[in-house]
Amino acid sequence: MIKLNMECKHCKHSLKDEKYKIDGHPSVRLLFEYKGKKDELHLSSILGSYNSKIPSFVADGDTLILFCPWCNTNLMSTRTCEKCKSQMALMNIENGGNIQICSRKGCKKLILEFEDLETELKAFYNVYSTFFKG
Ligand SMILES: [Zn+2]
Ligand SMILES: [Zn+2]
Repeated sequence: MIKLNMECKHCKHSLKDEKYKIDGHPSVRLLFEYKGKKDELHLSSILGSYNSKIPSFVADGDTLILFCPWCNTNLMSTRTCEKCKSQMALMNIENGGNIQICSRKGCKKLILEFEDLETELKAFYNVYSTFFKG
């Protein structure tokens, strides 16, 4: 199991929310904008888990604009999702590298890029081994 400690790409503040746990671990807290409304959402910090807490007024299949809860920077990246063509959001990973997640509710696409190849291989190996263990 891999826990990702995400931080804002701009202010480098941790996005970890100790008070709100998902999968038994502190979640990742982000702000979002949806049809003119701003609110917050929580994602699991466990790689491979898609458990999240997103307010119910967001419909499945709709896209969100994500922001840092600390500096309010727009986290949207220039990359689009290979699956659904929505824009992806970009965050840093504390020990080097970054993660991009699709901004469409219900789409599970994410891209992980580590600075260090060894960490990357370890991450993929661990993801793989959990698949086989079922
Ligand atoms: Zn920030
Ligand atoms: Zn997508």
